[in-house]
Amino acid sequence: MGEMPYAVARAAIEKYAAELDASGKRILQEVIPSTMGEPLLYSHFDELLELCRTLGIPLNLTTNGTFPGKWGNEAGMATLLHACSDIKVSHLASEQFDGWKANVEKLLNVRNSISDETLVKSTPNKKNAKIATISLQVTLHRKNLKTVPELITWASSIGVDRIKWNPVVFLSVAPQELREMFEIDESLLEPLRKELKTGVFSALNVKYDGSLFFENATDHCAVGGKRGSCPFADEVWVWPDGHEDHCPNPEKRYVNKKTVCYFV
Ligand code: SF4
Repeated sequence: MGEMPYAVARAAIEKYAAELDASGKRILQEVIPSTMGEPLLYSHFDELLELCRTLGIPLNLTTNGTFPGKWGNEAGMATLLHACSDIKVSHLASEQFDGWKANVEKLLNVRNSISDETLVKSTPNKKNAKIATISLQVTLHRKNLKTVPELITWASSIGVDRIKWNPVVFLSVAPQELREMFEIDESLLEPLRKELKTGVFSALNVKYDGSLFFENATDHCAVGGKRGSCPFADEVWVWPDGHEDHCPNPEKRYVNKKTVCYFV
């Protein structure tokens, strides 16, 4: 689909940043830079950060944890921590990239080194001085299920705030061999859910959420939308050509536009 021209990103952010609710409060809460590739490789990422900083809007970043270029040094990580409400590091890249764990640990160390005083100085509106929370986003699949205890123990020991657990989802057109390799059935997920809610891992200082905890998975669309309560109803997805939609369900976007929407 190509890279989004910066003018498109800027126009969308400025348009929504200008909208206020009845009490005069800004409606736009945060900017989520892309879920269609690694956002830190966006060639206008600096400008995007500066625009959001000037407008006082935090970014909610999901990254693969490679932290390319300057984003991998301490100053770059500190800039991201000041600019974001949450930095979610996707665990998928850890399967292909040796430095993944070290990068997450470095990000946590940089966050721990930022004093309250530096934080206030770097925030245009001093009252909103906040530092990003740090989360892991884990796509659970058959091959990584056995590594979960080790992952949680490590995450808790370094101070990760939250782990988002999402069991792998397949498009209806996915090849059968892919399903056989990675699909996990409910009988494997239920013990993990219990362990996280009430077992030894529930006592750790890490918050757990994600689609693993959806009560009745058959009731939901692939990304967790439920009849009458689509979690994305308040989000606007802006595409590289500037058009907008409200539904991130990949099945609906890429396979069958008529896929049932639980929202309507
Ligand atoms: S609009 Fe419908 S299909 Fe799309 S995410 Fe929401 S509930 Fe799911």
